[in-house]
Amino acid sequence: MAKLRRYGQCHLCGCSGPLSFEHIPPEAAFNDQKVLLSDIEKVLAGDMLEHLDNPKGRTQQRGAGAYTLCEQCNSKTGGWYGKPYVAFARQLFPYCWMPPDRVGIIPCTIKPLNVYKQILVMFCSASPPAVTQKNPELVRYLLNPESRDSGQERIYLGLYDLRNSKATRQSGLTGRINGHGIQLFSEISFPPFNLVCSTSGDNPDPGLTEITWFKEFAYGESADISLTLRNLAVNSVFPADYRSVDEIKRQAGTN
Ligand SMILES: [Zn+2]
Repeated sequence: MAKLRRYGQCHLCGCSGPLSFEHIPPEAAFNDQKVLLSDIEKVLAGDMLEHLDNPKGRTQQRGAGAYTLCEQCNSKTGGWYGKPYVAFARQLFPYCWMPPDRVGIIPCTIKPLNVYKQILVMFCSASPPAVTQKNPELVRYLLNPESRDSGQERIYLGLYDLRNSKATRQSGLTGRINGHGIQLFSEISFPPFNLVCSTSGDNPDPGLTEITWFKEFAYGESADISLTLRNLAVNSVFPADYRSVDEIKRQAGTN
């Protein structure tokens, strides 16, 4: 079968031209299996509880991701940040089986800045190109591996609860109203991590741990760190909703 070329605007550098398939997260970080893509609008319009038990959508054979980056951005950022992210994901994956009521203090050896920048590349990929077009500093920061000129964004991390999750999620910038105002964040939930990039700065869930300090390291610098993390379940279509299926059903029953 002839390979279809996709054209569009790169979500990172903004150039227009052929786009390459960007795995989000990287393929070697457990993202090489088929995934079910559900349309949030359709799920919201239908029976959400039925969707929990019997999810519907389109199957994508090659793993989660999309045609979002030009070939240059894809191969450059993959070369700089991909492997350190994969090494981080592989070290933490076994803890996704930890019971959800436990807090794990998990030691690991990683390249924190490389991991941090890979996470930001993933968020750029998951968001429309307009996001980086409005943030040229962010593009410079990500396309210069040595750059320490970061923005105001804050990154939060939780483990993905493999026992109690039935879904994965990816959302561009979402606004959520709470008692203190509007929280603005995007989310990528895929084993072994629940990742949140907060633009308004605050943490959308107390179960998540801030890792913005990863950016204080130098490019390529390796560090022995320890992270205090919890396992969070992913079942609903709502960003940063970490309820188990039982909790969702119970609350739906009482409402
Ligand atoms: Zn590009």
